[in-house]
Amino acid sequence: MPLIQSSSRAPVTINSEACIADKGCTVCVDVCPLDLLVIDMANGTAVMKYDECWYCLPCELDCPTDAVSVEIPYLLK
Ligand code: SF4
Ligand code: SF4
Repeated sequence: MPLIQSSSRAPVTINSEACIADKGCTVCVDVCPLDLLVIDMANGTAVMKYDECWYCLPCELDCPTDAVSVEIPYLLK
């Protein structure tokens, strides 16, 4: 799977202020069926690593702090 080239082009973004990965949360990583998200230990936040997405939304819906935003393409809405 291709790596994300630029975080600004990622369909899933993480609010680093709200993310509590530094406290041990890995919910979004665990629920993604494609394993697209990872924890960036250096920054203590989840990030999208791979340039792919099914727009299935558990990462956004299950995040305990509403830190995840999935940008669904207009043609899929
Ligand atoms: S589920 Fe939310 S708080 Fe937990 S690691 Fe993912 S983005 Fe951070
Ligand atoms: S929307 Fe689905 S496929 Fe995309 S990152 Fe979230 S859980 Fe993974």
